[in-house]
Amino acid sequence: MNEFETIARFFKPLSRDGKGIRIGIGDDGAVLRAPRGRELVIATDTLVAGVHFPTDFPPRAIGHRALAVNLSDLAAMGADPAWYTLAVSLPKIQTAWLGAFARGLDQMAREADIHLVGGDTVRSPVLSATITVVGTVPRGQALRRSAARTGDGIFITGPLGLAARGLALWREGARRGRALRAFMHPVPRLPWIPALRKHARAAIDVSDGFAQDLGHLLQASRVGAEIDLDRIPRNRRDPDSLGRALFGGDDYELCFTAPQSRLPALRADAQSAQLPLFEVGRITAGKGIHWRLSDGSPPPRVVGQSFDHFARSRMQG
Ligand code: ADP
Ligand code: MG
Repeated sequence: MNEFETIARFFKPLSRDGKGIRIGIGDDGAVLRAPRGRELVIATDTLVAGVHFPTDFPPRAIGHRALAVNLSDLAAMGADPAWYTLAVSLPKIQTAWLGAFARGLDQMAREADIHLVGGDTVRSPVLSATITVVGTVPRGQALRRSAARTGDGIFITGPLGLAARGLALWREGARRGRALRAFMHPVPRLPWIPALRKHARAAIDVSDGFAQDLGHLLQASRVGAEIDLDRIPRNRRDPDSLGRALFGGDDYELCFTAPQSRLPALRADAQSAQLPLFEVGRITAGKGIHWRLSDGSPPPRVVGQSFDHFARSRMQG
């Protein structure tokens, strides 16, 4: 099967009409109509076999993940998914592999209501997938990392460290269970998008570990944070859960800040839409992250030590 047959058989069927697509797959470029009064938000992420997922990862999970990690970036910007392109490098063209990869991709795309509008298909010794997603936001409403202010509450949308445990278990040969699922099947927090636009000030998605990603947000906003370690949701039966929650990667939960005045409305909206919400700390006028335990006792030393350990053992650089 050549490149053109591959596109026609596996990728063209993933394109659907609608969402302002005037010209989709099949021409030299896609022509798209942006909704009136909205701005475009664009994000790209590449997954390389052996770097961002294990080389023996199932193709369906690779397809799902390639899109999921990009959608997580759109969610963190408060943008509604609209279109995407896909550039794949394939060592060889195997129909079973491509079929499963395309199914994983299409399933995620349907859930997110995002449409494939183009891409590139090449042969290369290393398997990789680069996806570019385009989302839209009402003018001026995109969320940024740099908008946090002193006094804001800091929130996360779900348990942290599960995916890091899943990766460790995968390496030990496990192929099922909750942590494994969290690692293999990251779920972008798309249902949060409307509530984030309504209530959040600054947001980031947690892809490289909470400590690091919150650090990016704080640096961009030129503020500090106090984090209550015992309010971070994690699997307490895992003895390494605190280290994994802070320094493990691939969670794809959202971390955001919201002004105190909005907290009652935020909590009410989260509850009525059944969106998990955990308040873990506050933005301060200081610099960096001050970890603490709510009973006032000093935080465990494990925090500092785990950083190097997890930085070394992680999949993603
Ligand atoms: P060109 O040489 O003009 O770039 P290609 O032969 O690479 O054209 O692609 C033909 C059409 O198929 C283009 O519209 C391109 O966007 C689309 N396409 C190629 N690969 C993919 C893919 N992996 N997924 C979706 N669309 C693709
Ligand atoms: Mg091309």
